[in-house]
Amino acid sequence: MKNYHIEPPNHFSLPRRIRRLGELAYNLWWTWNPDVQRLFKRIDIDLWEQTNHNPIRFLRQVELPKLNAVAHDSYYLDFYDRAILAFTRYMNNDNTWYKRNHGQSQEELIAYFSTEFGLHETLPIYAGGLGILSGDHVKEASDLGLPLVAIGFLYTRGYFTQKISEDGWQEAHYVRLKFDELPVSPVLDENDSQLTVSVNLPGRSVKACIWQIQVGRTPLYLLDSDVEDNTPEDRELTARLYSSDLDLRISQEIVLGIGGVRALRKLGYNPGVWHMNEGHSAFMALERAREFVKAGHTFEKAKELVKKETVFTTHTPVPAGNDEFPLWLIDKYFSDYMSELSLNREEFIDLARHKVSWGETFGMSILAMHLSELRNGVSELHGQVAREMWNFLWPDRKAEEVPITHITNGIHTGTWLARRLRHLYGRYLGRDWLEHIDNQEMWEAIDNIPDEELWAVRRHLKRKLVFYMRERAREQWLYDGVHPVQVVAAGTLLNPYTLTIGFARRFATYKRADLILSDFNRLLELINRPNRPVQIIFAGKSHPDDNPGKLLIQKVYRMVKKAETGGRLVFLEDYDMNLARYLVQGVDVWLNTPRRPNEASGTSGEKAALNGVLNFSVLDGWWREGYNGHNGWAIGDETDYENHDLQDQMDAESLYNTLENEIIPLYYDRSSGNLPVEWIARMKESIRTLAPQFSMRRMIKDYANDLYFPLIDKK
Ligand SMILES: *Cc1c(COP(=O)(O)O)cnc(C)c1O
Repeated sequence: MKNYHIEPPNHFSLPRRIRRLGELAYNLWWTWNPDVQRLFKRIDIDLWEQTNHNPIRFLRQVELPKLNAVAHDSYYLDFYDRAILAFTRYMNNDNTWYKRNHGQSQEELIAYFSTEFGLHETLPIYAGGLGILSGDHVKEASDLGLPLVAIGFLYTRGYFTQKISEDGWQEAHYVRLKFDELPVSPVLDENDSQLTVSVNLPGRSVKACIWQIQVGRTPLYLLDSDVEDNTPEDRELTARLYSSDLDLRISQEIVLGIGGVRALRKLGYNPGVWHMNEGHSAFMALERAREFVKAGHTFEKAKELVKKETVFTTHTPVPAGNDEFPLWLIDKYFSDYMSELSLNREEFIDLARHKVSWGETFGMSILAMHLSELRNGVSELHGQVAREMWNFLWPDRKAEEVPITHITNGIHTGTWLARRLRHLYGRYLGRDWLEHIDNQEMWEAIDNIPDEELWAVRRHLKRKLVFYMRERAREQWLYDGVHPVQVVAAGTLLNPYTLTIGFARRFATYKRADLILSDFNRLLELINRPNRPVQIIFAGKSHPDDNPGKLLIQKVYRMVKKAETGGRLVFLEDYDMNLARYLVQGVDVWLNTPRRPNEASGTSGEKAALNGVLNFSVLDGWWREGYNGHNGWAIGDETDYENHDLQDQMDAESLYNTLENEIIPLYYDRSSGNLPVEWIARMKESIRTLAPQFSMRRMIKDYANDLYFPLIDKK
């Protein structure tokens, strides 16, 4: 018997006949099922947009006559009944991939820890790629029937929304999330009080309450320290993502790692596999060791038992990107905890000791490496880089023998594929194609799609993007008091028939957003040719404390504003999952210019490829594996550079040459009539080769077969 219950605060007043819309609103399954989204949209399309695609706010605000109208519309009801049936079948499906492949053994449970989850734009509890990956991981676990439970934070103020000043300076705005308008439910005890866990921080105990989000079949539990018993400062502990304040940061990681384990225990879960997605959650391994020590084991034995059940995924190829804490901070936060582990200070620090040029630190990735049995990087090249980077932890081994493997990142197909393409693929790949996303052979049938049909959908998606940008610019012009040049910079002069390049990602300097601007005159000459114009859309946030990143945004924005660009360079504010969908579905070319080998994997290009957008990217991360010479374009080659300036110069040269000599001519070649036949052939090659391989379906099967199941089977 569970000693807790979860009650969605579902008090909508809905006509009886369509009552279950309230249930759909509280399960994120709707986020990857466009037919369900249409159920809401059809009732009141303007309100659907105004509420930023939030069904809970939508159902609260929608006018009763509109609900009554659809409740008597047989066409609507037919749609509704089919959606409810699909939902019920999905939730009760007993014939999942997991059941078919691993169901014989006793049902095990995988606990998945991550600091951020990118599930939908209405839940701003993610900052970038790591969060999107976690969100997609949870969704696909649900699709495959994998028994997984996820743990993270419900940040009360979420990640910021971005505004760009006239001079290109990023302003960060935080709003307090209204939990009663989000698909989160409190986890309640028998007295209807919200369940909490506590952890010890210096001189006090801090509580966190537990919320739940239902992601298809998979539950995600989120911790939140905004609890009455806490001091005002502690109530803000989990308000925001990734503080640069070390005290705040270590406190958050203690709440996630230690509090997360306690939360799962309180909920009655007993996972057999524990997955740390990035080192932020590595304290969870200490907490489990503490449990074993408390049960009478020595620390050595406890460590061995913990390792046997632990998987660690590293995402950071740059040493500075790994979380490191100074030792005084460890003394401050862990002096009591060490003795609960029966360890003295030196033994405790040995678990994560990192000798750096100026002394020693406590490295979270090192802690995670030491306390896990299986470890992986997120692309082939990143695996190699990680083995070299962490070689010092296994000093008696050669780099290639360092026990870190790789599983290349993928994306959740249902979440990122445009609705029209989903229907088109359904027609040519077979009705049940979504069951076979990772099957290469199935995708051969892409060649059967008539060029005109595929091209018509692509044109539709680009128009949709351009019109969406115009509406956003109109809102800014109407309400935000922006300068006229910002209206141009927001994309109002874009042409829906022009070759369009997208560049959207976090503005970290290694991603080199300015590489394509490095020879500005050459670029201007290329984009302004009368018959073959090119337009480029930039978008992306920079961490609020990352000054070089913000300067980079400013540099790009200042160039975008110049009259000589003819309004063909654009910067879109506030990159989030919604804008990401418009961009990866709407542009023609997806540009990615990281300084190799700093991009661990990248996933936005995978989303683009799925939608028939061609990748134009440095051979780093996933693209180094995906590129086959015919399914997009490479920038530069596989040279390893010591000198950044030289590398940037060589890459820029390669970029301009390929753009000028290959990409632009291919797009505008209409020698066989109205269609760019060669371009479309390349698109098909790209979809066919990349969609199955870089799907989250393939990725989760790899995690299950290579990491989760081996640990389960060894028991
Ligand atoms: C997919 C995605 C990312 C990650 O993409 P990269 O290729 O790693 O840059 C970041 N932010 C958002 C909003 C995304 O949708």
